[in-house]
Amino acid sequence: MTEPRTPVADLARGAVDPARGAADPAAAIQRARDGDARALGRLLSLVENGAPQLRAVMKALAPLTGHARLLGLTGSPGVGKSTLTGALVAAYRKQGLRVGVLAIDPTSPFTGGALLGDRVRMQEHATDQGVFIRSMASRGHLGGLSGATPQAVRVLDAAGFDVVLIETVGVGQAEVEIAGMADSTMVIVAPGLGDAIQAAKAGILEIGDVFVVNKSDKPGAHEAVRDLRGMIAMGRHGKGEWKPPIVSTTAAAGEGTDDLMSKLDEHRAWLGRSGEGERRRRARAREEISAIALAEMRARMGGLPGDERIDGLARRVAAGELDPYAAADELIAGT
Ligand code: GDP
Repeated sequence: MTEPRTPVADLARGAVDPARGAADPAAAIQRARDGDARALGRLLSLVENGAPQLRAVMKALAPLTGHARLLGLTGSPGVGKSTLTGALVAAYRKQGLRVGVLAIDPTSPFTGGALLGDRVRMQEHATDQGVFIRSMASRGHLGGLSGATPQAVRVLDAAGFDVVLIETVGVGQAEVEIAGMADSTMVIVAPGLGDAIQAAKAGILEIGDVFVVNKSDKPGAHEAVRDLRGMIAMGRHGKGEWKPPIVSTTAAAGEGTDDLMSKLDEHRAWLGRSGEGERRRRARAREEISAIALAEMRARMGGLPGDERIDGLARRVAAGELDPYAAADELIAGT
């Protein structure tokens, strides 16, 4: 099978030099807004690599953000997240919306969207300028999920995508972090995987705004819905609070997508009505600021073996001449 030579496919192959074209951030952002997938790919690479130009880029795109709808999808491997993402992309495209997808793999050391699964998924949308799909390793230069991902979301938002789907493999803490980044988080389960039970254990119930039982064509789907309903009922949902609905889908056949989208619309309306949307936006910004500030402090302090200042302090602490708190104060004071 030969791969199509499109900008999107080039990006997936990693055939794009991330350093090029970043000299003029405003121009790069404008090109991305005009649908230039290469320009967009380069901006995302800056984010992933923590390139020095990132500050200028972030400054230029800040006024352009705040428009995109951020939707998170999470769940165990194999429940059908990618398939459902594809179905949602198709459905939102039908409404004429531009859709960006960030597929985040908290377990992957790879970056830059060169994963095989990604390329396969892209085929369908490869020639559609209204769709952009990128996979990212979660551990960016800031050292955590809360580092690179929100900035990648910002880039897609500024590039004019109406909907940004943030898909992540469920591995406990990582998905909880991801949930904080979306306006609405979908938790996907599938029958027969004991997922509903797993979900309860892993604290997934708390992060789901909408639950999706995918593979409804399979035996056990009703039981999965029943189990989830029971668990959701145990959580107390007072008047005016959001009670997460459960949607049944067969993503492989595109079934249930409309129902899912209408539940997402209801959640969005509630976010606006209740003020929770604004609260989430601010919480996200807080996380982002502190992640950047911490990374910046760490960089300024040195703090790595071989750094003279910390080595000198370490010698004194190890010899019992100085206590570690006083040493830490000294290190911070020197930044
Ligand atoms: P992910 O690992 O959660 O992203 O799951 P995938 O989207 O890769 O799907 C895993 C497998 O389940 C693939 O073989 C899909 O074709 C299949 N699958 C996805 N949705 C459905 C569905 O609604 N019904 C059935 N029977 N299979 C599905």
